[in-house]
Amino acid sequence: MRVAAPGTVVVIGAGIGGLLAAAAVAGCYQKVIVLDRDRLPDGPALRKGAPQGAHVHGVLASGQTALEALLPGVIDDVMAAGGDVGDMLADGLFYVGRQRLVAGQSGLQGLVASRPLLEWVIRRRVAALPNVEIRCGVEVQSLVHDAARQRVTGVLLAPPDATQPPSLLAADLVVDVAGRGSRCLQWLQQLGYGAPPLSRQPVDVTYTSCYFERKDTDLPGLRAVLCAHSADFPTASGMLEQEGERWVISCGAFANAAAPTDLEGFRAYLHRHAPPETAHVAAIATPLGTPVQFRYPASEHRHFERMPCFPAGYLVMGDALCSFNPVYGQGMTVAACEAVALRQCLQQGADHLAPRFFKACARLIAAPWEITVGSDLALPMVVGKRPFGFALMNRFMDRVVHAAQTDLRVAKALLAVIHLTAPSWSLLYPVMLWRVWRGGFAR
Ligand SMILES: Cc1cc2nc3c(=O)[nH]c(=O)nc-3n(C[C@H](O)[C@H](O)[C@H](O)COP(=O)(O)OP(=O)(O)OC[C@H]3O[C@@H](n4cnc5c(N)ncnc54)[C@H](O)[C@@H]3O)c2cc1C
Repeated sequence: MRVAAPGTVVVIGAGIGGLLAAAAVAGCYQKVIVLDRDRLPDGPALRKGAPQGAHVHGVLASGQTALEALLPGVIDDVMAAGGDVGDMLADGLFYVGRQRLVAGQSGLQGLVASRPLLEWVIRRRVAALPNVEIRCGVEVQSLVHDAARQRVTGVLLAPPDATQPPSLLAADLVVDVAGRGSRCLQWLQQLGYGAPPLSRQPVDVTYTSCYFERKDTDLPGLRAVLCAHSADFPTASGMLEQEGERWVISCGAFANAAAPTDLEGFRAYLHRHAPPETAHVAAIATPLGTPVQFRYPASEHRHFERMPCFPAGYLVMGDALCSFNPVYGQGMTVAACEAVALRQCLQQGADHLAPRFFKACARLIAAPWEITVGSDLALPMVVGKRPFGFALMNRFMDRVVHAAQTDLRVAKALLAVIHLTAPSWSLLYPVMLWRVWRGGFAR
C-alpha cells in the first residue's frame, strides 16, 4: 500500500473502534501506537473501560464485510477462538414485536461471539502487525496543539503518580476513539475550535443481561433469538449462543420499564417481554452470575463535518463520533465502516484528511442513524419531533413486517436493510410493494 505520510499515529482507545482504526492506518504510516487507560486482559475477559461487554453484541453483515476488509480472515479467527456464524433466519429466530419472520435461508450471516472474545481476537491480530504497538494502563490527558499551524502534534499522557509531570508523545496524526466518554468536545473548546453541531435523540434505554449455561437440548438447532421492539411490544431482546457453551440474554427496555436485576424477577420479566424461546431458556438454564445493567440515555451524532474550522492531525471515530442506541446492534459495524473509510481517505493522501474523513463518515452514518431514530420514534414513550409522513411510513413498515412472516423474499429484504447491506428505499421497489400489498391480504 502507498504510504500516505511517514511518521507516527497515536490512537486513543483500544476498544474495537480504536483497534480497527489502528488496522486501517497501519499500512499508511511508519508507526502506530494504540493507548488505553485500562490494563488490557490477556484473554477474552470483561474490563472496566468497556462495561458494555457484559451485554449481547451482534455484528451486522456489513460490519463483518468491513472487518474482513481490514483484517482478512478475522472471522475465521473468531470461530477458531470459540465463536460461530449462522444464517439469520435458518439458524436463528427473528421477531419484530410478537411477529416472527419466516424461517429459511436468508443469506445473511450472524456472528455469535461475546464482545470480550471479539475484542481480544481483533487485538491479537492488530498487535501482530509489525508497526503497531499497544500500550495499556496509559491515560491521555490532553492534546498537544501547535496554534500557529492549527495542528494537533501529539498527546500528553497522565503521569503514573500525581507528583510527576505529564509526558509528551509526539504524533503526526491522533485518532480519538476513546468512546462516548471521549474528551474531544472539551479539548476542541479549550483549543478555541468551538463545539460541533449535535444531533441527539434521547431514548433512556436500560439493558439488563445475564449469562446462562447452554445445552444442545435447550433450543435444538438454534443459535440466536432476536427480537426488535414494536409500538405494542416495546422491549428489544437478544439471546445469543456464546463461546464456552453459554447463552447471553439481554433485554433493552425504554423509559422506566427496565427488567429487574434479581434472577427470578429477570426470568418473570422475560416471560412478559421477550419471545417464548428466550423466556424458556432463561427458565430452564443454570445462570452464570446475576443480571447486570447498563443505562443508555441518548443516541448522539457529533457533526465534526459541519465545523468551520478543525485542527489538522486530529480525527474522532467510533462512539466518540456517533453513538447509537445499542438495541439495533450498529456501533461496532459503523466503527468498522469508518475505519475502512479512513483507509480509503489515506490512500488518496494525508492532506485535508479531517474534512474528507468526516464527510465520508457523515455519509455512512446517515442510514444507520435514520434506522435508529426512526425506530425509536415509533415508540410513544420516546420524545422527539416526528417528521412529516412518519405515521404513514410506520404503517408501511408494519405491513412489511406482517408480510415478512410468510414471504421469505420480504423477510430477506427487511433484514438486508437492518444489516446495512441495502438502502431503506429498497423496500419500496415495485416488486417489494407488490409482495407487501399481497401479504396484507393475510392480515
Ligand atoms: C449495552 C450495549 C450494547 C451494545 N451492543 C452492541 C451490539 O450488539 N452490536 C454493536 O455493533 N455494537 C453494540 N454496542 C456498541 C459498541 O459496544 C460500540 O459501538 C463499539 O464497541 C465501538 O466502541 P468504541 O471503540 O468507539 O469505544 P469503547 O468501546 O467505549 O472504547 C473506548 C476505549 O477508550 C479507552 N479510553 C477512554 N478514554 C481514554 C483516555 N483518555 N486515554 C486512554 N484510553 C481511553 C477506554 O478504556 C476504552 O477501552 C453496544 C453498546 C452498549 C452500551
